[in-house]
Amino acid sequence: MRIAPRTLVVLVLLGVATGASADEPSAVLATVQSSLETAGKQIRQFAFDGDPETYFESKENPHATDQFTLVLDKPVAVTRVKVTTGKPDGTDKLEAGVLQTSVDGKKFTEVAKFVGGSANFDSKDQKVLAVRVQPTSDLSSPLVIREIVVESPQPVATFRYPIEFKVDVTDAPEMKEWADKVAVLCEAWYPRLNDQLKSDGFKPATQITMTMKNSYKGVAEASGTRITGSVKFFKARPDDLGAMIHETCHVIQRYRARGNPSWLVEGVADYVRFFIYEPGNAGPVNPLQAHYNDSYRTSASFLAYVSDKYDKSLVLKLNKLMREGKYKEEAFKNLTGKTVQELGEEWLESLKTK
Ligand SMILES: [Zn+2]
Repeated sequence: MRIAPRTLVVLVLLGVATGASADEPSAVLATVQSSLETAGKQIRQFAFDGDPETYFESKENPHATDQFTLVLDKPVAVTRVKVTTGKPDGTDKLEAGVLQTSVDGKKFTEVAKFVGGSANFDSKDQKVLAVRVQPTSDLSSPLVIREIVVESPQPVATFRYPIEFKVDVTDAPEMKEWADKVAVLCEAWYPRLNDQLKSDGFKPATQITMTMKNSYKGVAEASGTRITGSVKFFKARPDDLGAMIHETCHVIQRYRARGNPSWLVEGVADYVRFFIYEPGNAGPVNPLQAHYNDSYRTSASFLAYVSDKYDKSLVLKLNKLMREGKYKEEAFKNLTGKTVQELGEEWLESLKTK
């Protein structure tokens, strides 16, 4: 099965949501679109991750009509574009192909030919929105892109946490457009979600499968690198994209230990959802009824309170402990000087005086 290219329209819709990450406020972000399906684990974003050891590989041998395109969030004055193809062992270099650029994402112009597997364009500050690798005839080997390098005074952020969502809408083909939109959104947010949940030596998943199921009775769930969503729920509430951000956080958390309390596992996922992805949407907490371990958005609000007041990296530290199977309730006391129960009471008191 060939995957239809994700459209530019989706990217324009998400323009606001894909703003630059906190650590590189001026960096322009990029997305990859291709008519080509991925071979095994060789995902598209490996072509622009700053690591020449990793590479994108197409599943099929491309036709002359196929393409691989890097699209920036906005046009950037570029000094040089260099594309290297072929596997580390030297095979599958692109010979019959050209490098194209576009300022509007619609009209593409040839700027260099591939010679010996690479193409180089000294662009002299030309404005570029998109860079495209285009075969010029049907190829007899897969397309393998080692690395795309974009040099510009305003930096373009490479994929620090390469990721590819695969969408399965076999149960509900009419949801394809919606599911593709969610996939683009979650891919765009993946670096920022990972920044909230990073820990030394941890490498997050590079492939996630999102399946929409008729038979699934809940809202959505994550298991390993698989996310399952309810067709019925998301048809009724197509704007609830944050639910899929929450599930993406579960994939990133990857807590294999069994001892982690579920209120905190869900609280951390909802903390990233409601205090990073969609701030202000957590809703009110009733201090007369709530408890810190009520899970989901209530626990997320509790974590936000403790984080603000005691330790800005609280969630990062709790996540690391849970990921490593070392979490115990005393962690709160160690990090803040107060027990989780004391913090819970203090948080509820703070809500009463608001
Ligand atoms: Zn959850």
